[in-house]
Amino acid sequence: MSNLPLEVVELLGQTIAKVVPITIGLALVFSVLTHFWACNPGKPWWRKRELITDICYWFFVPLFGRVLRIGLLVVGAGFIFKIHDADELIAFYDNGHGPLAALPLWFQAVLFLVLSDFAQYWLHRMFHGSGFWKYHAIHHSSEDLDWISAARFHPVNLFLGTIGVDVILLMAGISPNVMLWVGPFNTFHSAFVHANLNWALGPFKYVLATPVFHRWHHTSLEAGGNTNFAGTFPVWDILFGTFRMPANELPDDYGVGDQAFPSEIGGQLVYPFRH
Ligand SMILES: [Zn+2]
Ligand SMILES: [Zn+2]
Repeated sequence: MSNLPLEVVELLGQTIAKVVPITIGLALVFSVLTHFWACNPGKPWWRKRELITDICYWFFVPLFGRVLRIGLLVVGAGFIFKIHDADELIAFYDNGHGPLAALPLWFQAVLFLVLSDFAQYWLHRMFHGSGFWKYHAIHHSSEDLDWISAARFHPVNLFLGTIGVDVILLMAGISPNVMLWVGPFNTFHSAFVHANLNWALGPFKYVLATPVFHRWHHTSLEAGGNTNFAGTFPVWDILFGTFRMPANELPDDYGVGDQAFPSEIGGQLVYPFRH
């Protein structure tokens, strides 16, 4: 236990070392793309309001996610599979376990993406309901929506909306090695769908969530905000009647429409507990 603070500092260092080059890469890519294909021309992303808030989430979320994911996997293995020994634990999760781990790794990765996206579609709809909205409102509070806004999530939203689902799938036996593909894909794709781009990808708009698809989700309720819940595959919205991509129209005007909504990370983290 005495090494815990040191381990957290080490984990923080590792996370920052990993996140910084990815951030620089994404910043360069989206600076160029949004210069030519902006959905809402105007300010570049680095002059957006609440940039500092988004940067705080950008570094805080990967660290929080990593600690929580590892913690839940350890607790889950102890409770459900009665595994308490550290070496046994590593062997148990190393390459997955059971029938799912016997499938080819690429197939496990696809399965992971499809199953987690389906679960997250319904959890996302749950977070738009009255009881959970106060947690999810944080994500919708960006008024200058851009790629850097992608990580703005309350920890409760991360726990119930994404990390909990990942942990259940890994506990079910899918190999954590799928994360070698799924992790970078999710990072890039979530930045992509929030980017200020007018890309709808033509007929592929039914296959993969695009910036226009997800930016409609961030508009007000009247403008169509209660649609396009899918994170990756719009097929869920098509199947369950929540798909909305008006032809020849682009979304604008994002946010929760509340002037009193806290703009800095500290205020946002405590916001749900005060409402
Ligand atoms: Zn939402
Ligand atoms: Zn979003």
